[in-house]
Amino acid sequence: MAVNLLDFDLDGLTAWCESLGEKRFRAVQLFRWIHQKGAADFDTMSDLAKSLRAKLAGAAEIKALPVISEHVSGDGTIKWLFDVGGGDAVETVYIPEDDRGTLCVSSQAGCAVGCRFCSTGHQGFSRNLSTGEILAQLWFAEHRQHKRQGLAPTERVIDNVVMMGMGEPLQNYAALLPALRVMLDDHAYGLSRRRVTVSTSGVVPMIERLRVDCPVALAVSLHAPDDGLRDELVPINRKYPITELLAACRDYLDAAPRDFIMFEYCMLDGVNDTPDHAQALVQLMRRERVSCKFNLIPFNPFPASGLKRSPNERVKAFAKVLLDAGIVTTIRKTRGDDIDAACGQLAGEVQDRTNARERLASRRVVPIVAAVAPPGVAP
Ligand code: SAH
Ligand code: SF4
Repeated sequence: MAVNLLDFDLDGLTAWCESLGEKRFRAVQLFRWIHQKGAADFDTMSDLAKSLRAKLAGAAEIKALPVISEHVSGDGTIKWLFDVGGGDAVETVYIPEDDRGTLCVSSQAGCAVGCRFCSTGHQGFSRNLSTGEILAQLWFAEHRQHKRQGLAPTERVIDNVVMMGMGEPLQNYAALLPALRVMLDDHAYGLSRRRVTVSTSGVVPMIERLRVDCPVALAVSLHAPDDGLRDELVPINRKYPITELLAACRDYLDAAPRDFIMFEYCMLDGVNDTPDHAQALVQLMRRERVSCKFNLIPFNPFPASGLKRSPNERVKAFAKVLLDAGIVTTIRKTRGDDIDAACGQLAGEVQDRTNARERLASRRVVPIVAAVAPPGVAP
């Protein structure tokens, strides 16, 4: 079976090239063709000898994920649904902003954590994505949009990656780590550590590993000020309770590229959104002394959750309690909700794609493209 070169970070690609009798600088050239230029075809790699190109073509491939659909929101947000085989699909969301482009990337098909308010959690766990499948999302989005926007070779579309799509990235650590390294590598996407964010529900031992191996920005999905409530909302809390989680966060700050942890807090009507909850949160943060910012996420409802979004006034009142206590707090602007691309809405369409196609066809969407050609360099 051909090796998928998207599965390698630069060290991995170097080792593989050496196994073919090629030197490290060849691996660097190849790596740059793949990630900087979006090449999918060895024949386009004009500075590699023909014999090497033939050797590569015989042993390896640059394997994109087939695109099931692309939906463009009124605000410019784009959601792609990728086929990862076996009836599973994952979603990737591109969020253009004035001064930058953010890509929200999936790490698993489904998720085993099972948070009450998350549609991916309700779907259950299907499988981990490979490094190549994680990177294929960035590779595709960067090069597809680069081409569409007619940018110069040195310009980049995506300068911010958040591991906030489907899945719990720290429960797929082995595949995540090389993917992060490729995102950061100057021979590939060259993203700053501050602009690659791993979001976790709180897999404490893996927060510690990430601190040592590849300290990128960390976001922690907190959602509750005490263990009783968090046990209900984020079941992994029963294994790694809040004090352990916050201790790992404190340690992480020693190595983190930012001097705060971003805590996410999904605002659920009548569940975790009262002024008392906000006060309890302030007390918790004072007691545990974690340098933090809060991002309040208005809950994106889906029918099976039985939960409702907090009214705007309550979200603002909650934010005010935190702000008055000196905690920097933002309220997340919901992007792409006309195409179900907002947080926690991802992959509600995986189970029944035929049905999804019909539903989506009735909305304002770009035509559904089966097996879109890779965005690589034109032959
Ligand atoms: N598994 C990781 C990353 C993916 S979820 C994590 O849980 O952090 C990304 C963010 O979306 C998390 O903060 C999550 O709590 C939030 N989220 C999940 N479902 C949501 C929903 N229905 N409405 C709003 N935010 C949601
Ligand atoms: Fe998994 Fe994150 Fe959804 Fe929880 S919120 S079920 S950890 S994807």
